[in-house]
Amino acid sequence: MSHDTLSGLQSNVLVTDFDGTMTAVDFFDVILDVIPTDTMPDYWGECVAGRLTHVEALHGIFQHAPRDLAVLEKLLPKTQLDPRTPECVRQLKQHGWDVVVVSAGSQWYIDRILAPIASEVRIIANPGDYTPEAGLSMTWPSRDVPWYSQHFGIDKAAIIRELQNRGTKRIAFAGDGRPDVAAARIVTANNLFARSWLADVLTDEGLGFHRFEKWSDIADALLSE
Ligand SMILES: [Mg+2]
Repeated sequence: MSHDTLSGLQSNVLVTDFDGTMTAVDFFDVILDVIPTDTMPDYWGECVAGRLTHVEALHGIFQHAPRDLAVLEKLLPKTQLDPRTPECVRQLKQHGWDVVVVSAGSQWYIDRILAPIASEVRIIANPGDYTPEAGLSMTWPSRDVPWYSQHFGIDKAAIIRELQNRGTKRIAFAGDGRPDVAAARIVTANNLFARSWLADVLTDEGLGFHRFEKWSDIADALLSE
């Protein structure tokens, strides 16, 4: 993951969150569903209270994930990637839109879930790893990247600004959660797509946006303009 992740893109770029935006369910929620949560600290509670960073909280949850790789890999489809994703990415590309996936989750599971379209999208996420001994882990990207964030690992608003600085003609953004708020606030209403928690926050702030239910809704909206 380097600055070059954003080089050579088309003039229109859809910057999109992954968990809960391209998928129906967040990967960490899939993990929380299969492990007894009374055996672990309240990572999210500690995160919301400011005692853990988002990166530390997700890493903490990941450490409780099954240590058997075969079991772990069987959990990936439970995130329910929008089945129209490959078709929509290709249609968007044909109409001058590139897709940049930006996530405060980890590259480990996003790379695997998006493997069929790996060459057709750019992915910026936190570094993640799995070994039988250390289990599933997540850490921060290099401090050298312009979108480094101590809290989320990945600063999505900084990625939008980086694309703006590079002269990208049009930038759309889609998201659903806390790591998406800052980026959503700097995108114009016609280019902003939100659901769930993010949609509620933007509504409270009086900011305009397109509401979506599944990721292909976004592609359909951009392609029908
Ligand atoms: Mg999300």
